[in-house]
Amino acid sequence: MRLVFIGPPGAGKGTQAERIIKRYALAHLSTGDMLRAARDAKTPIGVEADKYMSTGQLVPDSVVIGVIADRLAQPDCKGGYLLDGFPRTIAQAEALDKMLAEKTTPLDVVVELRVPDEELFKRLAGRGRADDTEDAIKQRLIGYSNQTKPLLDYYGKQSLLKTVDGLGTIDDIFARVTTILDTYK
Ligand code: AMP
Repeated sequence: MRLVFIGPPGAGKGTQAERIIKRYALAHLSTGDMLRAARDAKTPIGVEADKYMSTGQLVPDSVVIGVIADRLAQPDCKGGYLLDGFPRTIAQAEALDKMLAEKTTPLDVVVELRVPDEELFKRLAGRGRADDTEDAIKQRLIGYSNQTKPLLDYYGKQSLLKTVDGLGTIDDIFARVTTILDTYK
């Protein structure tokens, strides 16, 4: 199964992603994790990415697309994967479609985890990560609305989009997700 998992920061995407990859034996491709690892290792890409990450802005498309293209070429992706935090812009989604069309391995499904903004702000402010200052949180929520929400329409038009209510317990949400994903196994 090739799956894109979309949701605003603070929606609980990471927690659900961990469970999903175990249940369906998927590779977990989180661009946030990859960029944080690159930043911590002080690679050229990491140093460049940190300029944006520290202020809650999106890293330029060309940088992220390069990172994901390398990752998709690795052998563990052959058994299916979950894309977590990528694509985040229409340009990234188009680049992904192109890469996958070349390999004749199109996406199977796009899952959106939907959570209202007030709830997101509450959750993010309580998380205490280094890039979770109030301004950076606001910036990330605005970025999600402006740059990532258009993807819902993009994937809706391809009939790939499934929306899941992201309110409730971790188990409730996971049950909603698996009800959908079990049909793609
Ligand atoms: P995340 O852990 O997915 O919230 O990502 C943390 C930060 O990494 C984001 O706030 C962005 O600065 C950057 N980032 C992660 N994925 C992407 C992406 N697909 N496009 C642009 N920037 C990204």
